[in-house]
Amino acid sequence: MHLPKTPNRGINEHQTSRINRKTGPEARSPLPQLLVSDGSGHVFEIPELLMTGSGFLDPVVPSKDELIPLPYGSDLFELPDRVAIGYDPATEQYVEVHTYKGKPVYPVAAFMAPAYLQLYRSAYLTPEGAVRLPLYCYTAVGWMNGTFYVPAMRIDPDRRQDLELFDLKEIEKRAVERLKQFKGNRLVYHLVENCTLTYGCPAARNFVLGRWECPVPTSAACNAACVGCISEQPPESGIVASHERLQFLPTVDEIVEFTVPHLEKAEWAVVSFGQGCEGEPLMAGPLIEEAIRAIRKRTSRGIININTNASRPEVVDRLCRAGLDSIRVSMNSAQKHFYEAYYQPRQYGFEQVIQTMRLMHRHGRWVSINYLVFPGLTDHPDEIAALSRLIQEVEPDMLQTRNLNIDPHWYIEALALHTLSPQQIGMKRWVELMRKRFPRLKLGYFNPPKEAMQRGEP
Ligand code: SF4
Repeated sequence: MHLPKTPNRGINEHQTSRINRKTGPEARSPLPQLLVSDGSGHVFEIPELLMTGSGFLDPVVPSKDELIPLPYGSDLFELPDRVAIGYDPATEQYVEVHTYKGKPVYPVAAFMAPAYLQLYRSAYLTPEGAVRLPLYCYTAVGWMNGTFYVPAMRIDPDRRQDLELFDLKEIEKRAVERLKQFKGNRLVYHLVENCTLTYGCPAARNFVLGRWECPVPTSAACNAACVGCISEQPPESGIVASHERLQFLPTVDEIVEFTVPHLEKAEWAVVSFGQGCEGEPLMAGPLIEEAIRAIRKRTSRGIININTNASRPEVVDRLCRAGLDSIRVSMNSAQKHFYEAYYQPRQYGFEQVIQTMRLMHRHGRWVSINYLVFPGLTDHPDEIAALSRLIQEVEPDMLQTRNLNIDPHWYIEALALHTLSPQQIGMKRWVELMRKRFPRLKLGYFNPPKEAMQRGEP
């Protein structure tokens, strides 16, 4: 978003300046009011202004049918150094909001609970020299009739990570039991002490509770250098990684010891290699291959999945022969230049990623794309055309949408997205278009268990 060249300050009682545009929402009322923060985490609404969102570079007022109450389990963030943008219905203009009732205020954003897709980011200006925001997603949020509202939609009905399904007392009790049950197992210790009890990771909590999808981190190394990597950041990025990367290579026995009982007993059982707290699992190919063989000797129940950058088709081929059931391939863009600008792959390229998906398809295994969504790029006609070609070519079973966790300003700069033409169709229409164009492609968020893997079902 650009700072206007000649800001006009001092409108009403909130010190604001008008954005040099005059566009209005079609439906004005009732719409949520703008939320701001006082710089100390105290969030409040400005009744004279409507909330805005950012579909790409310019602010918009989300329409009523794009808004839902803030999902339970979401967080609110105050965005330091930035300038909020509201919409003044009295003047029909977007305005910068620097202060309110004489005191400085800052923009607010929501970090939404899992399974929700954002339609607009928070709209604000990022002045030169502003600190970089940490690796979260910054969705627009407003206030109406005593409720927070976000422009978003639930993309997956699966409730496996809904906060209301986690009883924290029960988790603590079961965590202690797990440590006793798998005494001396370093990977279980990591999943319990670090992931469950320190970070509150929902996947690790589900392992502790013996249900659904169980995470299996294995690799400390990676062959990419994603701009927004959540487990490793160089000092010059100015931010810290949000996850601590696994520091040891587990043994086959450590993996098998807890994954087999999970697959045998858990409802909708999935075990997944490749987690946010590790590097790239294909870097630990021989270990995973041996572990899959050992697991499948003991049980044929459930799904063995890998979340990966799909950089090594030859390794994935071996994993399939060992018994891998499904793969989730991460990508931020179906356009090679944007993919490579973000992943900064070492010794592989976009071609290998495509090759891996084709190979999984040949093996008759489930393929999901973990599509890192960024309004502005995702809903741009060039990206839609590239993604459509890719879907036609590799025929994935599922498109899992993930809100990209990154400072939007940083992402736009790193990928030079400001060069994109302003032809975005909007995220809501993007979802409708994908559903219409690819009725057999599942849209969702989570790796499906065997019971939900009906191919050809919309
Ligand atoms: S592929 Fe994963 S671990 Fe590797 S740099 Fe990217 S986000 Fe980080």
